[in-house]
Amino acid sequence: MTAIADNIERIRTTIDEAAREAGRDPAAITLVAVSKKQPAAAIRAAHAAGLRDFGESYLQEALAKREALAALDARWHFIGPIQSNKTRAIAERFDWVHSVDRFKIARRLAEQRPGHRPALSVCLQVNLDGEASKSGLAPEELPGAMERVAGLEGIRVRGLMAIPRPRRDFAAQRTAFARLRGLQEDLVARGHALDALSMGMSGDYRAAVLEGATHLRIGSALFGARK
Ligand SMILES: *Cc1c(COP(=O)(O)O)cnc(C)c1O
Repeated sequence: MTAIADNIERIRTTIDEAAREAGRDPAAITLVAVSKKQPAAAIRAAHAAGLRDFGESYLQEALAKREALAALDARWHFIGPIQSNKTRAIAERFDWVHSVDRFKIARRLAEQRPGHRPALSVCLQVNLDGEASKSGLAPEELPGAMERVAGLEGIRVRGLMAIPRPRRDFAAQRTAFARLRGLQEDLVARGHALDALSMGMSGDYRAAVLEGATHLRIGSALFGARK
């Protein structure tokens, strides 16, 4: 087995065990392999080992790799910061966008999504810890933002995404993810049909599974350190 296949097996085992502990179906949890700064060959190896979902943060790099991997049957997730002038390529070339952090971006993605493709699945990014260095909506902005984006054709808002501040303490990791789940539940209670919670990275994905994550975005634990 390759190192990547080994890593996938180890990560899957951790996901399955945490899901069982939480009384959840492991099949409801998507492992998004974060392949930013990894070569196309690494994506091929992960695909050969069974993964179908890949996450990229940098548009130019992602488009170049997609060109090289055009024949691969895979779903592509955009997870990085989005500038307005990048929305067209993202709307055309990706299946999911996890990092929508303002209405203008949502509207452009919706308008630019090609009509022959299914609605683009998106998550609203939440800045859980109020960090100046991170993008994302403040928790109190969510109900209003959700109302506005829910009416857009061309995108389908699936849920929330966050990158909590790294915490080493397991209980603290769980608390942060539970907060995001609570914010999602508030929106569901307001009538929004949300089914995705994109949370959990290499250092904290077990806690995320216990708190209800549906999409884990895992890079270095899977591919090794980024170049
Ligand atoms: C890079 C990145 C990840 C993966 O981080 P790892 O710690 O390598 O697992 C997940 N989510 C986002 C938004 C990222 O930019």
